[in-house]
Amino acid sequence: FIIPDFRGFCHHLDQIYNSCKNNTNGKVASYIPQLARLKSEHWAVSVCTVDGQRYSNGDVNVPFTLQSCSKPLTYAMALGLNGTDTMHSYVGMEPSGRYFNELCLDYNRLMEMDGSLAQVSLNLVKNVEQKVRRGEWCWGSPKHPNPASPCSYVMTYAMVLGLLGAEEVHSRIGMEPSGRQFNELCLDYNNKPHNPMINAGAIMTAALVKPHLSAADRFDFIFNMYRRLAGDEFLGFNNAVFLSEKECADRNFALAYFMRENKCFPEGTRLHETLDFYFQLCSLEITAESGAVMAATLANGGINPLTGDPVLTVDAVRNTLTLMHSCGMYNYSGQFAFKVGLPSKSGVSGCVLLVIPNTMGICLWSPPLDNNGNSCRGVQFCMELVSRFNFHNFDNL
Ligand code: GLN
Repeated sequence: FIIPDFRGFCHHLDQIYNSCKNNTNGKVASYIPQLARLKSEHWAVSVCTVDGQRYSNGDVNVPFTLQSCSKPLTYAMALGLNGTDTMHSYVGMEPSGRYFNELCLDYNRLMEMDGSLAQVSLNLVKNVEQKVRRGEWCWGSPKHPNPASPCSYVMTYAMVLGLLGAEEVHSRIGMEPSGRQFNELCLDYNNKPHNPMINAGAIMTAALVKPHLSAADRFDFIFNMYRRLAGDEFLGFNNAVFLSEKECADRNFALAYFMRENKCFPEGTRLHETLDFYFQLCSLEITAESGAVMAATLANGGINPLTGDPVLTVDAVRNTLTLMHSCGMYNYSGQFAFKVGLPSKSGVSGCVLLVIPNTMGICLWSPPLDNNGNSCRGVQFCMELVSRFNFHNFDNL
């Protein structure tokens, strides 16, 4: 077994589950009434390992809509249909669309992880010149002796971390690659949506799934793909959520029109049909249990661990996990990558899909959201998990 002492592991999961249960922070999403009615008390954790071991605790059989958690899944399916090159001629892979010297601060008025970083890092260290003279400190790498050259930013940053500790450094400098909102009305420097994990990119992804089929056949096709991902466990469609998404979608319409104005879509794209398809994807329903199987399929390189069905290609999964890692948690993505170091995606219904590659998939669900739009209990669970186990991408150095 991939987790030899699975019972011991489950005991830890129980403890983390209970500690997160006491977290009553956050607010349930209220932009549509169907989501506002979700109960704050709901809390579910479900795990499925790549060899099919299961753990479930809490409201694991209550259906909820996938919302933005559908973005990586549809992206993975669209990659299988179109290939990486075609996909990425329409949608970027950048978390940020900022230049390294762009004159801007993040939403906390901190510097982003960019060119300004080195200067701020330097200012944080008092008597830096003395330290250099005493040989306690050196400027960047020998190849890039100039502290203002980008390669040395990294060196400088690593040294300052060692001197001051992460907490102090990051009280001044952010750790977000992006300062963009998930639904920000902008395109990247190539006039594409930045990546498939934000709304513009997900609308584009929807446009690239079987565009020649009728709306009904497209829905059937994607529903069947999602069912295979969940290995025949629960998958539903919430028509009330779909209808109200469509009603309250000024921004998504604006994004689609903005992209059409900029000639982003493939020729022949039907804009309203594409938006409907995007809202339908957001309105697919899962439970934490079926969500765990979906996440486990990603963890297992695209092969559903329960059915053995090769649902997604290995390349598609690799691309998807990469973008979940850098862009999956809205404006907390950089901080999540820093602190948790695992690919994940959250949605406004309070869902978090967490993938531990080659090990397991986890689905967390609790509706109250923090200011970034991520489930409060969900994020806490991820933090506590990596504090107990070496699952962070860079833990084993
Ligand atoms: N349906 C929502 C939207 O497109 C999904 C957003 C989300 O989960 N953050 O605005």
